[in-house]
Amino acid sequence: MQLFNYGISNKVTKQIREDVNVTQLKVPHLEATNMRMIDLIQKKKQGNELTPNEIDFIVQGYTQGEIPDYQVSAFLMAVCFRGMTKEETAHLTLALVNSGDRIDLSAIDGIKVDKHSTGGVGDKISLIVVPLVACTGVPVVKMSGRGLGHTGGTIDKLEAIEGFRTDLKRDELISNVNKYKMALVGQSANLTPADKKLYALRDVTATVDSIPLIASSVMSKKIASGADAIVLDVKMGSGAFVKTLEEARELAETMVEIGKALNRKTIAIITDMSQPLGHEVGNANEVKEAIEVLNNKGSKDETKVALIIASYMAVLGGAYSDFESAYKGLKQIIESGQGVKKLKQLIRIQGGNPEVVDNPDKLPRAKYHIQIKSSHKGYVKSINTEHIGISAMLLGAGRKTKEDHVDYSAGITMVKKIGDPVNIGDTLCILHTNLEKHHQAERVAMDAFKIDSDKPQENPYVYDIIGFER
Ligand code: URA
Repeated sequence: MQLFNYGISNKVTKQIREDVNVTQLKVPHLEATNMRMIDLIQKKKQGNELTPNEIDFIVQGYTQGEIPDYQVSAFLMAVCFRGMTKEETAHLTLALVNSGDRIDLSAIDGIKVDKHSTGGVGDKISLIVVPLVACTGVPVVKMSGRGLGHTGGTIDKLEAIEGFRTDLKRDELISNVNKYKMALVGQSANLTPADKKLYALRDVTATVDSIPLIASSVMSKKIASGADAIVLDVKMGSGAFVKTLEEARELAETMVEIGKALNRKTIAIITDMSQPLGHEVGNANEVKEAIEVLNNKGSKDETKVALIIASYMAVLGGAYSDFESAYKGLKQIIESGQGVKKLKQLIRIQGGNPEVVDNPDKLPRAKYHIQIKSSHKGYVKSINTEHIGISAMLLGAGRKTKEDHVDYSAGITMVKKIGDPVNIGDTLCILHTNLEKHHQAERVAMDAFKIDSDKPQENPYVYDIIGFER
């Protein structure tokens, strides 16, 4: 019998609950085994299911430096091609959780809410929803990551604000959330260290876009970081790691099932990533755009998606009884200026310069601004959003290797979006960089736009909601 709709068996659910409920998580002893990594790579390469012990062996061995990058890279590639069963994915999630500490948020009053995006381009939703939901009195503890692959990361964006600290100690985090209802922080050093290591390796070995790897990575962090309720923003389209609705549903269902198995209220919202959200892609320019949304001057897509995600967070946190009243209430919070004031407070309490909110010109600005012009007339039919992300990375906004530094001022402004009319010579987008050589980024950005004589149909902002029980 299956306890959950999507297939994690009772036995595994029970084991997951037991493992997560013990404070000192038990770690099976690797020395008691004669496993060899090469055999496990071979086993996965042939499409066979790994046992929980084998998964523990890989995760612990890698975290402790006993299994080298090259073997784990081969294993990850085998997972990309062969996939994992629901039960393997659940065990991988647990193994990642067990690799480090879990944060105890019980000293914070109320239902603690977190959100997580599976990764997009121009996705600055966290910067908007954290202060917004905090205005409703729901405690928001948002743990964020850095850029991955062609996608941006909230921590990189926040670091564009001079002085902003994302490494709060536990006591400061708890006191901020009790007092101000919000914290936006990076993963602490010992929170899912195995995921941190794997995440960085996947980023440079083309092994990000795998449903079990994404689901376990996201859910391990959310479980270890201790929130009671989780809203997952599953991005779908040319700029996301999953490109089809079918894959997005599978990813969403897998994560919701893992969350629910662990007694976390979890819902997943599948949102459009067939083009960048809003107009800005990068770091400092995305902060600027988030400020615009909170000033009620944001683009329609960005504002709407942020309000939808914030509404579900506020409902799960108990501030509203239904989605409709939450949406109305949060819209009012933006319109009244309360939202932007709360962002200013967030920046101040985490050590950043709050003046950037009233004067975004204080954010880093690049030296060069290159306009990419259209050589066709018609409508923007599609945008290869992954390529926009790659172009932004080439301009300095992301990392090519684990060791790279991010240039916070680099990025892209999308002047035209899908469905916009275009004339020959019109600017499609503007590239911002400090690099003298930006030819490759220009070519990649130019090729990302497809112009057609027919106006394309608009995509919905939200495709589906998984796991929401009224
Ligand atoms: N976000 C994560 O946290 N992990 C992934 O693997 C992809 C997106």
